[in-house]
Amino acid sequence: MLPKAGSLWLLRLLRDIQLAQFYPSILEELNVTRPEHFDFVRPEDLDGIGMGRPAQRRLAEAVKRHRSGNKPKNWVYKILGGFAPEQKETTPPSDSPSFLPEPEGGLKCLIPDGAVSRGELLGSGCFGVVHRGLWTLPSGQTVPVAIKSLRVAPKGPVGTELRDFLREVSVMMNLEHPHLLHLHGLVLGQPLQMVMELAPLGSLHARLTAPAPSPPLPVVLLCLFLQQLAGAMVYLGSRGLVHRDLATRNLLLASPCTIKVADFGLVRPLGGAPGRYVMGGPRPIPYAWCAPESLRQGAFSSASDVWMFGVTLWEMFSGGKEPWAWVPPYLILQRLEKDQARLPRPPLCSRALYALALHCWALDPADRPSFSCLEELIQEAWPPEGHCVRDVMEPGALRMEPGDPITIIEGSASSHSPSSTTWKGQNSRTLKVGSFPASAVTLADLKGSPATCPVHKGSPAWGEQHRGSTDGVRPKAKLRELPPAKSQRRNMPLQRIKGGTECTWSHPPGVPSGTKSHWGRCSFCHPEP
Ligand code: ATP
Repeated sequence: MLPKAGSLWLLRLLRDIQLAQFYPSILEELNVTRPEHFDFVRPEDLDGIGMGRPAQRRLAEAVKRHRSGNKPKNWVYKILGGFAPEQKETTPPSDSPSFLPEPEGGLKCLIPDGAVSRGELLGSGCFGVVHRGLWTLPSGQTVPVAIKSLRVAPKGPVGTELRDFLREVSVMMNLEHPHLLHLHGLVLGQPLQMVMELAPLGSLHARLTAPAPSPPLPVVLLCLFLQQLAGAMVYLGSRGLVHRDLATRNLLLASPCTIKVADFGLVRPLGGAPGRYVMGGPRPIPYAWCAPESLRQGAFSSASDVWMFGVTLWEMFSGGKEPWAWVPPYLILQRLEKDQARLPRPPLCSRALYALALHCWALDPADRPSFSCLEELIQEAWPPEGHCVRDVMEPGALRMEPGDPITIIEGSASSHSPSSTTWKGQNSRTLKVGSFPASAVTLADLKGSPATCPVHKGSPAWGEQHRGSTDGVRPKAKLRELPPAKSQRRNMPLQRIKGGTECTWSHPPGVPSGTKSHWGRCSFCHPEP
């Protein structure tokens, strides 16, 4: 094979150590075209092209020698190496080459260009397009994947898109959690491609806004998603990271009952001031999801992620509506801070869950619950479930038949006559939501059999609650109130929206104040801290 332009160094290097026979496979199967690419080659990759371990050691030493004579590292190395968590110095085992660190800071897998094939377009984002694809493993087995390709060519000065793309890779390669999207590997080709776990059912936002005949999602399933999201965020926080872009558009459905947090392009490490990341310059941010301190000072923390969690909860229970769509973007901060306004309670959301959202929207970040506390609070706010005991045919009432499983969203005892108590709930068979006579339903007890007493006075949101679990195991009952945060007691849902005031934020050149993209990302900025 004739040496390709630009890869003569590789051929020379391999010839020097009598390994020239591996030139075609290193170049074409492993896509190594620059010395820095060896940072992402693992022993298994070299095993895969038939190179023995002693030869791998020779190669490692030759690459090291070659690179010590070559000064600057390329952009891939600079960004991935600069962002990945620090690696511990370890003594490599005698049979592994010294330049190949194992995951925790190294790439999970370098995938040859020819091993992936792209299919239908799934969508596109700020810096890439995502296709459905197939990854053929060395064994011949094929795995359905999603392939995100960088839209811009990786040459010339490092652009924001490239930096964010590589940052996303470097974040994902160090994460492993059942509710975080998994990165399989990277194709070092033109364009750069991220090979990720496929979420075949698309984004939760698309599911929430799907037109009929798609039925609405069961309220208990939404609670399960909240539980999964909180668990993933506990893990992300434990890795010292903030997500900064929590929203239903970034939750992907891996199965009907499993969400995965995706889109790590805005993830940042929490360095500097304790537990806070402060933006260094003007960048687009998803303003309607952002906490006041993020809008005002560009400050992000686990507490600002918790605020976004509250907005994501609101989206879920609003059928994917856009938060603050009725308020000009430049007025949102004022509404939040001055008017103490908050997003209103969605019809599907119980009082207990709404109180939880209000808790997430405490003005002072210190008053917001942590994600691990949220896991508990979600369990406590879990909507009670019961069974219908008689036909309900009354006009205007939620239709149900004996045996229908009913999720109780809300109850309101009539002060005039307890027998006329009505409840609001969801019939899990029809997925319809509405009011019904409380006497038509019995609550399920811990073992799943009907409770001895019928549902009566008091709101289920403040009464008997069920514990949830992320694996879909039936929740346990629990009695407890969920008090709103101290600073939230005065907060009112946004009902009164008055005329606007002047926008005092600075905007990048050419971007009109208040512009927003269709998915709600702000195209304008906040003042520098
Ligand atoms: P941005 O990256 O600009 O923040 P985004 O999240 O919409 O926006 P991408 O992450 O590039 O952008 O994703 C584009 C679309 O592709 C998304 O709408 C998402 O629904 C779909 N998508 C992304 N990753 C996957 C995946 N692993 N499986 C299935 N669909 C995916």
